Amino acid sequence: MIKIEELHKWFGELHVLKGINMDVADSEVVVLIGASGSGKSTLLRCVNFLEIAEEGTIAIDGKVVNPKKDIKRLPGIRQEVGMVFQHFNLFPHKTVMDNVIEGLTQVKKVPRREAIKTGEELLEKVGLSDKADVYPAMLSGGQKQRVAIARALAMRPKIMLFDEPTSALDPELVGEVLAVIQELAAEGMTMMVVTHEMGFAREVADRVVYMDEGQIVEEGSPEQIFGDPQNERTQAFLSRIL
Ligand code: ATP
Ligand code: MG
Repeated sequence: MIKIEELHKWFGELHVLKGINMDVADSEVVVLIGASGSGKSTLLRCVNFLEIAEEGTIAIDGKVVNPKKDIKRLPGIRQEVGMVFQHFNLFPHKTVMDNVIEGLTQVKKVPRREAIKTGEELLEKVGLSDKADVYPAMLSGGQKQRVAIARALAMRPKIMLFDEPTSALDPELVGEVLAVIQELAAEGMTMMVVTHEMGFAREVADRVVYMDEGQIVEEGSPEQIFGDPQNERTQAFLSRIL
């Protein structure tokens, strides 16, 4: 579903991704872990083409995208790759329903009535049917994040990317968001998830990828990575956080 080859990204002089190679299979859940600044967010943003890598290719569902040559195709490709951020990024002046259906009505030009039907289904899925008409300011962080997930799902993406979806939440709100992500995984959504929730990573990941300084240092099943990491950088990282 995702094939990343020899991806390099620079910010000016700073070489942030140094030759990333990664395949994500249909319905696979890959969890990215690594120290702050190791390039996890940048990698996700490249997969969604919010950042354009200077070198390398990314293929989405068999279609190779050369970010520099295919600029015009990027908006269409972006619809196939939903992304959820740490800080929700909801529109504060729109209701929950209008946040969820924004892309449907504005980008996909779906008639409002039809979009609302989809919106209702998705709000039910994330357990927020009763919040359709309220504004984001009225919601808890966990509820906001579930709205953000519903909004991303509204575009019917083939892939979902999550960048620390629970890092901004109070501890008691983390579980409700992880439960929604877990349900998506069980339904077979292909996902890349950056998280510091190692318990969650262990449960949801088919594969854990450890990144350090812009490179993939080690990858394997959660049992391998958490139980018997081979690389000393992985070992040092895990001993700091576990
Ligand atoms: P964290 O765990 O703190 O979120 P991360 O692994 O997601 O870290 P990135 O956000 O991908 O790390 O950043 C990787 C490196 O790229 C860092 O050194 C960061 O300062 C730099 N960087 C990220 N975005 C930009 C940008 N827009 N302009 C310049 N440098 C950037
Ligand atoms: Mg990050």
